[in-house]
Amino acid sequence: MPEGDTIHYAARRIRDVLEGHVPDLVSTPHPRFGRDRWPERLAGRAVRSVDAHGKHLFLRFEGDLVIHSHLRMTGSWRVRDASPPARTPATTWLLLRRGDREALQLRGPVLELMTESRTRFDQRIAGLGPDILAPELDETKFLRRLREDDPTRGIGDALLDQRTIAGIGNLWKSEGCFAAAVDPWRATGQVSDDEVLAIVHELRPRMQASAADGRQSRWRRIYNAAGRPCPRCRPPALIQARGQGDGNRPTFWCPSCQH
Ligand SMILES: [Zn+2]
Repeated sequence: MPEGDTIHYAARRIRDVLEGHVPDLVSTPHPRFGRDRWPERLAGRAVRSVDAHGKHLFLRFEGDLVIHSHLRMTGSWRVRDASPPARTPATTWLLLRRGDREALQLRGPVLELMTESRTRFDQRIAGLGPDILAPELDETKFLRRLREDDPTRGIGDALLDQRTIAGIGNLWKSEGCFAAAVDPWRATGQVSDDEVLAIVHELRPRMQASAADGRQSRWRRIYNAAGRPCPRCRPPALIQARGQGDGNRPTFWCPSCQH
C-alpha cells in the first residue's frame, strides 16, 4: 500500500540517483503531458532535494520548480538500472535518468510541475498535518487538529485524515489501533490523548523501519487477515473487517482485545 513509509522510501531511493545532479533525461511518455514541455522547462536544472511529507513526494529543482507527486491507490515509483536499457512500461508518466540509474513514476495519478511558492499556498499541501515520519513529531499540533475534528468520528477513520496527521493509510490505521489495543470504532471524543499518542508511538518505529528498507509487509499482523485468529488473544478470537468512514475503507480489528 502506498502510505507515508512507502513514499519516504521512494524519496530515499530517488534521492540517491538525482539529488545534487542535473538529470541526463527527463521524459513524460504519458499523452496527458503532451503539451506541457516538462523536458524543456527542466532542462539544465539540478535536483536540489527530494523529500516527502506524508504521502506527498517532492522533487525540488533549481529555479523554483517542483515536481509534486501523490500516488493515491494506483500509482507507484520504481528506481532501477538504466543499463542495459529496459523497456519503459506503457503506464509510465515520468522518467528521470542519471548515469546508469533511472526513476519512473507509473500510473500517476497526481503528478504536476509547480512553483515552490505554489506548494506553500496549495491547500492539499499546505493544509497537511504533521508528518508521522518527521524526525520530531509535532504532537501538540497533531492533538489540536484531532480535537478540532468531529468527536463522533471513529478514531481509526480520524487517523486517516491527512490534515490531522500525514502519512497514515488504511494498513497502518488498522495495525496501529491493534498494536495499542484501541478499538478503531471508538468515537474520537472517547479516546484520551494518551491512547491516541500510544497508537502513534506504536506506529512510528514500524513506519520508520519500513521507510528505511521498504519492507512494509513484515509489520503486517491483522491487515487483510479477516477471519483468521487474532495473533494476541488466548484463546484466539477472529479478526473482523468492515468498511469505515466516508471512503468505506476496510478496517481490521479484534473485537476481543481492542477496547
Ligand atoms: Zn485479539
